[in-house]
Amino acid sequence: GTVLVAIDGPAGSGKSSVSRAAADRLGFGILDTGAAYRALAWALRERGDDIDSEAAALTLLDGWHYGITLRGEQRVTVELPETVGIGGATDVTAAIRANEISALVSRVSKHPVVRDRLNAMFRAMVAESGLPGVVIEGRDITTVVAPDAPVRLLLTASPEVRAQRRAGDLPGSSAEQVLAELRARDEKDAEVVDFFTPAPGVVLVDTSDLDFEQSVQAVVDAVRE
Ligand code: C5P
Repeated sequence: GTVLVAIDGPAGSGKSSVSRAAADRLGFGILDTGAAYRALAWALRERGDDIDSEAAALTLLDGWHYGITLRGEQRVTVELPETVGIGGATDVTAAIRANEISALVSRVSKHPVVRDRLNAMFRAMVAESGLPGVVIEGRDITTVVAPDAPVRLLLTASPEVRAQRRAGDLPGSSAEQVLAELRARDEKDAEVVDFFTPAPGVVLVDTSDLDFEQSVQAVVDAVRE
C-alpha cells in the first residue's frame, strides 16, 4: 500500500512548501487538500451560486470533475457540470490562489457534509495513486482524513512569522495587512477544526525559528524514523 504522511497546520506555517519539498525528497506524492476547498469556492463563484449554500456546494460536487497532480509541478483543474463532455477542464492553478478566493473559502469549508465528501475524494485519490507514499496536508488530516497514518505532524509558527512568510509570497502586500487577513481566516477556520493543538500522537513541529531547509529536514527525519 501507499505510506501516508499526514501534515496539518495554519496558513504560513510553511506547511505547503515544506510538505512539497519533503515529498520530493522522499520520492512521495503530495496532496494539498486546501486546493480542493479553494477550487470549490472558485467554481461556486464562477457559476454565480450562493457561496454559503451547502446545497449548491453538494450539487457542484456531484457534477464536477476535479483534478490535481500529485507529482511534479502542481496543476489544478476543474470541469464544471455544464461543460463536462463539451468544453473540457479549466486550469485553475493560479486563480484559486487569488485573495478573493482566500477570503471566501472558509464559507465553503464550514459545512460538515461538504468536508465528508471531499475527505472521501482525498482518500480515493491516495488509494488510486499507485505511489509508494503520499504526503497529505491540510487542517484535519491528522485527526479526520488519515488518523491512522504512520506519520502525523502539526506544523506551526508564530502569527508574526506566518504573516511575514505570506507577505513574501504576495508581492505588494504589507505584513500588517497580511497578518490581519491571516488572523481573520484562522479564526473562521478554527471554528470548524482546531489546527493549533496537536491531537494525541501527533508530533508538533514549530518552524518559527527554523529556516526552510531545517523545516524540510524535520519532516523527512520524522518519516525516516
Ligand atoms: O491550505 P490552504 O490555506 O490553501 O487552505 C485554504 C482553505 O481551505 C482554508 O482556509 C480552510 O478554510 C480550508 N481547508 C480546510 N480543511 C483542509 C484544508 C483546507 O478546511 N484540510
